[in-house]
Amino acid sequence: MRQMHLFIERFKAWRRDHTPSWVRFVIFSVGGGTLFLGLLFNQGSPTAPMQSAELPSHLQEQAPALLAGNENQLARLSQAPHYTIQAWIHPDARTIEGQMKLVYTHRAAEPEQEVVVRLLPNAASIYGGGSLNVHTGLPSTLSEDGTTLYIRLPEPVQQNEQVEIELSFSALAPDQLHNGYGIFGQARDVLTLAGWYPILAPYQDGWTAPPVPQVGDALVAEMSFYTVDLFLPAGYQVASTGQVVEMEEIPEGERLRLVSGPAREFALAVSKEFSVLERDWNGVRLRLFTLPDRPGAVTAEEAMQEVEESFTAFTELYGPYPYTELDVVETVITIGGYEFTGMVVIDDELRQQSRRADYSYILVHEIAHQWWYGLAGNHSVDEPWLDEAFATYSAVLAYEHVRGPGAGDELLRTWQGSTAGQPGLAPVDSSAVDFSSWTPYRDAVYSQGALFLHELRQEMGDEAFFRLLRLYQEQHRYGLAEGQDFFALAETIHGQPLTELIEKWFK
Ligand SMILES: [Zn+2]
Repeated sequence: MRQMHLFIERFKAWRRDHTPSWVRFVIFSVGGGTLFLGLLFNQGSPTAPMQSAELPSHLQEQAPALLAGNENQLARLSQAPHYTIQAWIHPDARTIEGQMKLVYTHRAAEPEQEVVVRLLPNAASIYGGGSLNVHTGLPSTLSEDGTTLYIRLPEPVQQNEQVEIELSFSALAPDQLHNGYGIFGQARDVLTLAGWYPILAPYQDGWTAPPVPQVGDALVAEMSFYTVDLFLPAGYQVASTGQVVEMEEIPEGERLRLVSGPAREFALAVSKEFSVLERDWNGVRLRLFTLPDRPGAVTAEEAMQEVEESFTAFTELYGPYPYTELDVVETVITIGGYEFTGMVVIDDELRQQSRRADYSYILVHEIAHQWWYGLAGNHSVDEPWLDEAFATYSAVLAYEHVRGPGAGDELLRTWQGSTAGQPGLAPVDSSAVDFSSWTPYRDAVYSQGALFLHELRQEMGDEAFFRLLRLYQEQHRYGLAEGQDFFALAETIHGQPLTELIEKWFK
């Protein structure tokens, strides 16, 4: 507890210098001054399209994370949740202590009495083996599995009203891989942090907080803005969502301020062992973080070449990448790779063992997720095919784009081989919660889903199929789409029903 106390004292000192007075207004302390919490209602005004000059300061400060020309996106997302986080990261202890202010604008017509946040590191699966605890000072109920916190508001929030919630949190990351994928934990001297702070559940017809599945993705998130101050001991390299906008040496190490632009979550990985290779791609900083090489490894230069090739393919096929940075990070991941906005992680074993085909495939798949899941979002638990089938098939499209027609045929044959005639294979649009192990989930959702997209392409023809992908990206950029949206657009572009094809692969 001494460490926690010192940390709070540091925060107090830092906040005195850096916090605008109106924020201090909503903070009050309890329990001997060790917790900060508070809540404030702001009367909202109906949204009107904003010119960038009129953007509120919390949106203006997000601009460095976006390429020039994307400022209009900030105005369009002016009601998106906004997180302000200050977090002290102790890699040696694998702990994070943080404070967070969450600004939530209620857009639904029905008043709402609760705000729901996800505490994913408390899940037994996927994130497994660590913990995330939150102190709000407001009456709140934790779900039985510890992953969902229902915070009760003193009075219901009405349509277009804004709620500001201040809370403190502490997290412990496991030091070895237990039940998780390695996305929250420390291994090979890398501390990888996904879901390390309370993440607001999206509000659709009520709060969307699905159970954490045994396999697949657990997070369903709407686009949000993050302003994050990370306090770290000296000497660490940081890969993350978003863009560093300030760096400051402090007595204990350093402080980095980052902004995310519109992001589904804010992930990071810190290590003293990273080597960083950087390339400029038309204004986007592509950064490759690698761990020390072993003989026979694919070199970082070769890996960067593949990153650039697939990135080029996807911007041309699906639409522009709006952010100023993409971090590709080598760490210990038990399922090959994992995607976050502006950052992907790749299992270090793949490059080290010169498993070039596997490495290349995972790299391409995860980068494709920047478009499928990242930009055009979906309910990744109920309809995981909407990002996984697309990211899987994206490897075929990227290989064709780079190497020419037929370059993805071997992948197609692999997926056909693993699914054809397999009894009891679940439909493409199965939920992640329907599975208790990886292989049947992969075969049903990834492999079959990619084969469906290939058949759809053959049915529609290349011109219409690629127009469909681009238009779907455009229409659902920064949103959460559903399978029905994709089918409806496909049929509109195709000019006739696709019932037979859809019924072959889907429920
Ligand atoms: Zn994937």
